[in-house]
Amino acid sequence: MIEMQDVTKKYPNGIMAANGLNILINQGEFVFVVGPSGAGKTTFIKMIYREEKPTTGKIIVNGVNLSSLKNREIPHLRRNVGVVFQDFKLLPTLTVFENVAFALEVIEHHPKDIKKRVMEVLALVGLKHKVRMLPSELSGGEQQRVSIARSIVNKPKVVIADEPTGNLDPETSWEIMSLLDEINTQGTTVIMATHNREIVNTMKHRVIAIENGRVVRDEQQGEYGYES
Ligand code: ADP
Ligand code: ADP
Repeated sequence: MIEMQDVTKKYPNGIMAANGLNILINQGEFVFVVGPSGAGKTTFIKMIYREEKPTTGKIIVNGVNLSSLKNREIPHLRRNVGVVFQDFKLLPTLTVFENVAFALEVIEHHPKDIKKRVMEVLALVGLKHKVRMLPSELSGGEQQRVSIARSIVNKPKVVIADEPTGNLDPETSWEIMSLLDEINTQGTTVIMATHNREIVNTMKHRVIAIENGRVVRDEQQGEYGYES
C-alpha cells in the first residue's frame, strides 16, 4: 500500500512539483499516472522510492513512513519497490544475467538459488536464451524486458514505471504492457507514468491525472484524457 498525505515538493529553484498530493493506492492495484510534461509525474514516482524527499507531508510505502526512514534503510526500501525507466538504465558492461543478479538481494541466498531466481525471471520475460549478451546487443524492447526482470527479481510488492514504453514502437510497447499486466495479476501493485494514450484507453485501469503538482482527476477504469 502506498499513501501520500498533503505532500508538497518544492525544488531549490522554487518550482512546486507537488502541491498537496493526497493519494491512496491499495495493494494489487494497477494505476496509470498521466498529465502534461512538467506536471509532476516523475517527482511523484521518485518520492515513492525516495529518490526525492517531500518538502512537507507524509508518505507511507508498504507500511513504512518514509520520513522516519534512515539513510541506511533506503536500500531495503528499494528492494521492495521495483523501478523501471524509459531509458532502461542497464549497466552496459554487465551481461543480461549479471544485470539482474546484481539487483538481487544476495544476503540470504546460495549461489545456486541466485542462479535459479535470475533464470526464473529471465524466463518469465522471455529472455532465457540471451543471458550472456550485453545490453548493447539487444533491441530496445529486449532491454526493457531485462529491466523489468531486474525490477521484480526481489519479488517487490510494488513496481513503478516511468514511461516504460516511451522509447519503444507500438508493438513492442504492447509486449511490455502485457508483461506488466501479468506481474500485476500475480498481486504486485503497478504504478506507471505514461504519455501513451492508446495504452491507457485500452487497458482500463485506474487513472490519476496530475497537473501543476495536483491531482486533477482520479478515476477507476479511467481514460487518458489528453489530445496527445
Ligand atoms: P513530469 O514527469 O510530469 O514531466 P516532473 O516531475 O519531471 O514532471 O517535473 C515537475 C516540475 O518540476 C517541472 O516544472 C520540472 O521542471 C521541475 N523539476 C523536476 N525536477 C527538478 C529538479 N531536480 N530541480 C528543479 N526542478 C525540477
Ligand atoms: P516524453 O519523452 O516527451 O515525455 P514520450 O516519449 O513518452 O514522451 O512520448 C512522446 C510521444 O510519443 C507522445 O505523443 C506519446 O503518445 C507517443 N508515444 C510514446 N510511446 C509510444 C508508443 N510506444 N507507441 C506509440 N506512440 C508512443
